[in-house]
Amino acid sequence: MTTVICVECDGELEMTDDVLVGEIVECPDCGVELEVTSVSPLTIELAPEVEEDWGE
Ligand SMILES: [Zn+2]
Repeated sequence: MTTVICVECDGELEMTDDVLVGEIVECPDCGVELEVTSVSPLTIELAPEVEEDWGE
């Protein structure tokens, strides 16, 4: 188990060791979505907000 610090609230997130780059995790403290950008060292960034635009 690895721990990373949430960029939004500085809370600790527990990550499994088999986490993959590009994986989206949700902070249990503030609920923000974080994207794993590197696994060595383990780095997370705020996930880009997906805007679901169904308009033509
Ligand atoms: Zn957080």
